[in-house]
Amino acid sequence: MIDFQHILNTIVEEISSEPDKGIVATYIPELAKVDCTKFGISLLDNNAKLYSSGEANEMFSIQSISKVLSLSMAFRILGNDLWNRVGVEPSGDPFNHLSLLEMENGIPRNPLINAGAIVIADILVTQLKNPKQEFLEYIRKIANDNSINYDESVAKSEKETGFRNYAAAYLIKSFGNLKNDVEEVLDFYFHQCSLRMSCEQLVTIFYIFSNRGECLQNHRYLDLNQVKRINAIMLTSGFYDEAGEFAFEVGLPGKSGVGGGIVALLPNKFCVATWSPGLNKKGNSKLGMLALEKLTTTTALSIF
Ligand code: GLN
Repeated sequence: MIDFQHILNTIVEEISSEPDKGIVATYIPELAKVDCTKFGISLLDNNAKLYSSGEANEMFSIQSISKVLSLSMAFRILGNDLWNRVGVEPSGDPFNHLSLLEMENGIPRNPLINAGAIVIADILVTQLKNPKQEFLEYIRKIANDNSINYDESVAKSEKETGFRNYAAAYLIKSFGNLKNDVEEVLDFYFHQCSLRMSCEQLVTIFYIFSNRGECLQNHRYLDLNQVKRINAIMLTSGFYDEAGEFAFEVGLPGKSGVGGGIVALLPNKFCVATWSPGLNKKGNSKLGMLALEKLTTTTALSIF
């Protein structure tokens, strides 16, 4: 039997003595205020046993991790028609790049880069009566936790500075792949990115991806093929132009956010979340990646 609690405690101890903690994201001014010495880790295994160490209960801005959740909601609604609007190939580019979008006629490479998530946001704005409210309710229901909420100050901060997202949205619209008003779509997108959660809440939600589509209360959200496809996209595109490195070092499907969070999972075994706000040059949590590399190397548990 693997002693996950001991492994997580050891990781927290080793991480705390790492001298280079990366740099917090500053392009969203609200995120620049976060203390980069924070570190938390939680692991939920498929016997529903939760292990945590460090600041695993502290809430942070999940940012791009939310893209997997909006994708899952849109996939439930549209099914495979979704793939007419967005691709499933890794971009090999940073999360906010625009050049491929121009060359590929406004069809984003995948739903986990910003452009792709903006198209998913457009789909949800079309499909839902009260998009922000219904998305929040969807997340709260999966988590079985009504305390989860948007962080209005982060959403506002990004709205005031998210010029590249405005550029992407207008470019997509110029190709006819954005049906709603840019302001309305980005208002939804900035809110979904502003969701605040702890590592423990994140693993509870991402449990559906490690547990074949069912949450802890055994309610089914996704069928097996949908889970397969979303996990495949996380593996190939969850870390932008560092997806190869993450697969190489960690060997799990996962998703990062510029708030410093990472979630990753081993299907049918466990789901794990880390939070360390300092980022590397590719915009992924520096020590979060290191922690997950330690976890899969120590336990020899990876998809490979
Ligand atoms: N809200 C951020 C943005 O659009 C999300 C980026 C990220 O977490 N990688 O820039």
